[in-house]
Amino acid sequence: MGSRLPSPLSRRSFLQTSTMASAALAMRMVTEPILAYAAAPSHPKGAVLINANENPLGPCAAAREALIAVTPQSGRYLDEQTEELVGLFAKSVGVSTEQAAIYGGSTPPLDFTVRAFCSPSASYVTADPGYEAGMFAAETVRARVVKVPLSKTYGHDVNAMLAAAPNAGVFYVCNPNNPTGTLTSQSDIEYLVEHKPTSSIVLVDEAYIHFSDAPSAIELVKAGKDVIVLRTFSKLYGMAGLRCGFAISRPDLLQKLRNYGGFNMMPVTAVAAALASLREPQLVAERKRVNDQVRTATFAWLDRNGYSYIPSVSNCFLLETKHPAKQVIAAMAQQNVVIGRVWPSMPTYARITVGTSAEMEQFQHAFQKVMKGIATTGWLEPPRKISRRCDGELLLG
Ligand code: PLP
Repeated sequence: MGSRLPSPLSRRSFLQTSTMASAALAMRMVTEPILAYAAAPSHPKGAVLINANENPLGPCAAAREALIAVTPQSGRYLDEQTEELVGLFAKSVGVSTEQAAIYGGSTPPLDFTVRAFCSPSASYVTADPGYEAGMFAAETVRARVVKVPLSKTYGHDVNAMLAAAPNAGVFYVCNPNNPTGTLTSQSDIEYLVEHKPTSSIVLVDEAYIHFSDAPSAIELVKAGKDVIVLRTFSKLYGMAGLRCGFAISRPDLLQKLRNYGGFNMMPVTAVAAALASLREPQLVAERKRVNDQVRTATFAWLDRNGYSYIPSVSNCFLLETKHPAKQVIAAMAQQNVVIGRVWPSMPTYARITVGTSAEMEQFQHAFQKVMKGIATTGWLEPPRKISRRCDGELLLG
C-alpha cells in the first residue's frame, strides 16, 4: 500500500493533531484533499480515485499548451497576466474588476470569509450534509456551527436556516451542494438574502455550478446585496493542483477578506492555464456534456441493479450502500477503487465522484463485488478507529 499524495506526512500530522496542538490547527485551512485523505489515508498505486471530486480530464489542451509556453518566462512575476485574467474573468461573469478577487483556489476566500464574518457571537450556518471546510474555519474563530438538514428535495432549507441562527455571521449555501450534487433554487437564495440579519452575509459556493444549469448568485452581487460568491478552476476546468479561484462580491466585502490573507502573487502557471481555459469557447459546455453522459450512464447502471442514490446535477452524488458506508469504503479500496467519504447524518451513504467512463466501469464492477461479498461472507475489514472531532462530527483517522 502506498499513498499518491506528495506530502502524506503533513496530512497525517494534521489528522493526528492532539487538542494540545489546537492553536497550530487554528492556522490551518481544511481542504478537500485533507478531508479525502482522512477517509482514505492510503491505497494501492494505480487505484481508481473517485474520492475527492477531482476532474479526471485535468486541464484542457489549450491550458496544457499555455503551461508549457509560460515555463521559460516563469522566472518573472508576470503580474500583468494576473491582471489580464482578473479582467477576462470579471468580464465573463459580468462584473467589474473591483468585484472579482483572485486567489489560489476557492479554499482561501471560503476560509477568510468565515473568519471575517463569524465569531463567538456570530454563528456559521450551513447545510447538513454539506461541505465541511467552512465548519473548520468557524471552529478557528470559536463561532457556533449550526447545521441545518437539507430539505426533502435536498435543497438548502432557507427558512430553517434563518430560524436556526438569528445571530448568524455567515449563511453558507453550496450550489450545487457538495456532497449531494443537488440544487437550491435562485428564489430560495434570494429569500435568504432578503430575510437574513443585516450584519450577516450569504456565502454562495459555486464550485460545481458549471456542471449544472443553475443560474448564478453573481446576479445578487450585481444588485449590491450582502453576498459573496466563490468560483474555482479546480472542478470543471480540471485545475485542482494548479490552484486558481475567485471571490465575487461588493468591493467593501472583499476588503474585509484582505485582513486574513490572499492577494499574494498567483503562480504564473495557474494564471496561464486559467486564461487559456477561459478563452476556449466550447470548454464548459463540452465538459458538462461529458460529465452528464457518464453520470447518466452510472445512474442507469445503479437503477438496473437495484441500488439507490440521490439524483445529482453535479460531478458527485451520494450512493446508498444500505450498510455502514465506512466499511463499504474500506472494502472498495481493497478492490482498488477509492470512493469518497461519509457524512455522519447519512451513515449508510458514500460520496462518489463521477470519473471517466472506464473508471466508472471499474467502480461498478467493484461495487457489485463488494455488495455481493458483504451479503455472503460479511465484512472485509473491521471499522477503523475514530481520532478527530469537529463540532460533534467524527472524522476517521
Ligand atoms: N468548495 C467546495 C464546495 C468544494 O467541494 C471544494 C473542493 O472540493 C472547494 C470549495 C475548494 O476547492 P479549491 O480550493 O480547489 O478551489
